[in-house]
Amino acid sequence: MRKRLIVSAASALSLFLAVPASATDFQPGAAGAGDSYYPTYGNGGYRVSHYDIRLKYQPATDELEGTTTILATATENLSRFNLDFALNVQEVRVNGRPATFATSGEQELEITPARPLAKGGQATVVVRYKGVPSTVKKYGFTAWLRTPDGAVAAGEPESAWWWFPSNDHPSDKATFDVSVQVPDGNQVISNGILTGATSQAGWTRYSWRENKPQATYLATLAVGKFDVTTDTTPSGLPVYNAYSKDLGENADAARASVERTGELVDWLSGYFGDYPFSSVGGYVPNVKTGFALETQTRVFYSPRQFARGTNTSVVVHELAHQWYGDSVSVSHWSDIWLNEGFARYAQFLWSEHENEGTAQELADYVYASHPADDAFWSVKPGDPGAADQFSNAVYDRGAVAIQALRNAVGDDAFFRILKGWPAEHRYGNATVQDFQAYAEKISGKKLGDLFTTWLFTAAKPATGPAPAGAASLAPGADAGRADGQLPVEPKSWKKIQETNSLHDAEH
Ligand SMILES: [Zn+2]
Repeated sequence: MRKRLIVSAASALSLFLAVPASATDFQPGAAGAGDSYYPTYGNGGYRVSHYDIRLKYQPATDELEGTTTILATATENLSRFNLDFALNVQEVRVNGRPATFATSGEQELEITPARPLAKGGQATVVVRYKGVPSTVKKYGFTAWLRTPDGAVAAGEPESAWWWFPSNDHPSDKATFDVSVQVPDGNQVISNGILTGATSQAGWTRYSWRENKPQATYLATLAVGKFDVTTDTTPSGLPVYNAYSKDLGENADAARASVERTGELVDWLSGYFGDYPFSSVGGYVPNVKTGFALETQTRVFYSPRQFARGTNTSVVVHELAHQWYGDSVSVSHWSDIWLNEGFARYAQFLWSEHENEGTAQELADYVYASHPADDAFWSVKPGDPGAADQFSNAVYDRGAVAIQALRNAVGDDAFFRILKGWPAEHRYGNATVQDFQAYAEKISGKKLGDLFTTWLFTAAKPATGPAPAGAASLAPGADAGRADGQLPVEPKSWKKIQETNSLHDAEH
């Protein structure tokens, strides 16, 4: 009875307060960016231009507190909008006024500003929060990796939720300022340029700036005790590398690999054009996981990548992503071949440069070593599905597809495509279809059949990626194997495969 009375009163009140017709145009923004692989990742109704992330972190207890300020522009009339985030939120302000907020789903933070946001209007969103990120599990895992002396945030496709609220989808890129206070004696690594490190009352604040658009999953953070090396490349690009002090017997192999970053970025520039960012480097924290990740300008490497000695191949792979993945980012996660196919192909080119097997030999080897009934061929690199987004086929078959393209258009057009593409879409986003159109424009050839065969068919192509005028490998690697036709394993093959734990995602 009491309840009914309250309901009636509320209904009467809402009638009485009926809003003007124009205000009904204000609707909640979507809870996802429209990505079919990850429907709730990212959000709709606004774009972010900048993240200012200001944190305080205590390595001993893993306690993180922070304030993130987001500069956004509404792309529709918004009564409400979402961010993606996993820690506990204390306060949200939008354009200075306190906003109400609620959580829903795994990582949705629903924000209702005091005044609705009009399409085209700017919003400054301030979120205050704290938590112990390593204890927060979403979809059964945490991308916050604890180390003996601190922690690391690195993961694909999700890692932001554990340290800053965001529109967590690569289609919405922004610049970043990351400023983190840690107890004196600890260091903070992030993307871009270190703009300051000042100590006060026992705490040191490190400030980093990435001044070029960056996808949220490419933002990284590490706190710990590191040996740092700095230098500039011959072209004047600042290099900043960092190695955890407790890497043990992997320390020297890690250094002997990552210290070649400047050389390798210059070498890759010969194929991909000018390096797109204002700094470069890598860091090797003492994590247990085995993968590496192309975090923008500052690559994350697991020490396990160097457990069997130096590995320049993985450095080449992650640096290639700075063009293919970081500067030119996927529009949807289904476009992952634009990242991994090309990063793997860069390893093929490095192998060729090192006289450890040509790209053609590697492509032939991949083609022949997987029989037609191997599940490898059931994955379509051009649209692998979320479950197979980081499967070997996206990398290896993806790179063979690029060799097939090279053979179809010839070296001259191929290398113009390889270098022209990152310039065409610099700091932006693109789809596999955009790439096909670009390759057709540059080569003057119709490539629909080639793309369908190598990227969009769940079966082994009938013939291998043969160069013009050469006989292709016998159809069906089963036959190839039985006849002893399996090509000799290229010298670089094992090292290339060792990088396959690159994205052994936690889920
Ligand atoms: Zn990769």
